[in-house]
Amino acid sequence: MSFKSLNITSALLHTLKKLNFEKPTPIQEKAIPEIMNGQDVLGIAKTGSGKTASYVLPILMQQQNKRYYENRHVDVLVLVPTRELALQVEEVFKTFTQDLPVPLKTMAVFGGVSINPQMMRMRDVNILVATPGRLIDLIESNAVHLSNIDTLVIDEADKLLNMGFQKQMKQLLQLMPRKRQNLLFSATLSEEVVKVKELLLNNPVVLKMEADAPKPEEQIDLINQSAYHVTDEKKGPLLRYLIKSGDLKQVLVFTSSTYKADNVADKLRKNGIDAAAMHSKKSQGARKKALSKFKEGTLRVLVGTDLLSRGLDIEFLPHVINYELPRSPKDYIHRIGRTGRANNPGEAISLITPDEQHHFNVIQKKMKKQVTMIESADINLHGF
Ligand code: AMP
Repeated sequence: MSFKSLNITSALLHTLKKLNFEKPTPIQEKAIPEIMNGQDVLGIAKTGSGKTASYVLPILMQQQNKRYYENRHVDVLVLVPTRELALQVEEVFKTFTQDLPVPLKTMAVFGGVSINPQMMRMRDVNILVATPGRLIDLIESNAVHLSNIDTLVIDEADKLLNMGFQKQMKQLLQLMPRKRQNLLFSATLSEEVVKVKELLLNNPVVLKMEADAPKPEEQIDLINQSAYHVTDEKKGPLLRYLIKSGDLKQVLVFTSSTYKADNVADKLRKNGIDAAAMHSKKSQGARKKALSKFKEGTLRVLVGTDLLSRGLDIEFLPHVINYELPRSPKDYIHRIGRTGRANNPGEAISLITPDEQHHFNVIQKKMKKQVTMIESADINLHGF
């Protein structure tokens, strides 16, 4: 099936071509026609399945046909659990709106940053991507109204519910018109998600995509894993050796503390490798800047803590290096999972000190996979 046969408009086909999206993913194939038909949809699909474009494309087509937009009354609301996801969804909308004949404005709002600039920028916004708490603050300040909402999307609904946003969601639903289209996306069909489905969705089409997205365990097979025995003091030189001698262009490095992330990034820069740290102690502005530079390929190394490992979606990320191991095997799998997305095999390297060996054995056992160990003492690290 092609995007053309899904009746995607030519402006959007043009953007899809620029992005090299050759054909729709299974969730896109199923969800796009249903959403275009005005159906409520429950999509059980994980990040990596292409779920974002599966609602972004039909929503943009519907909004293009609309005649009436009112200032400070948004038309589409996408509720998300985290600011990272808010920024990612905003980016997808912005990418697809760039070539549209009728301009549509998208904006992401989330807490943890000052509210005033968000209030000012709220003028003429059509599509709002928001975390629930900050959205309520903006509504209470009269910066935005929900009474014109045509389409409500709840993305990563399971996570939103796990994070205890039920009360805020109820409050927000009361401010929206009853007649609207509802699209609910969740990685899992938990009991809470079923409850929300019953409360919110009107005779929905349920699209289950679990079989199409590989489980993290299956995804592991796509990744080339290796690990180096190394002493603590040789970790820095070994990291620089791996990046320089392997001519690695886009590397995500994980540390276990924000202090270490800063330290590793500093040392890389001092050694002529373009690097930035990204973690919870950095300002939102600095995080956004580092992430977008890294995504567009102008920043060679991004160093971060496990905050980075969930929800971060970078296509074709070829290299992950564990400078330090995470505490849980699950986090290890999440970290290296950054490289095996969309069936692109990547490489994950771990630097293991004698102290970390036992823990690394536990991780391998849990992952049911043995990782090739390489002796770094045999490598000449002089000059790195
Ligand atoms: P998502 O599940 O929405 O987070 O998307 C996962 C990744 O797949 C993103 O990096 C998208 O850019 C990419 N993607 C989405 N749809 C397609 C498609 N039809 N073809 C190729 N890549 C896609």
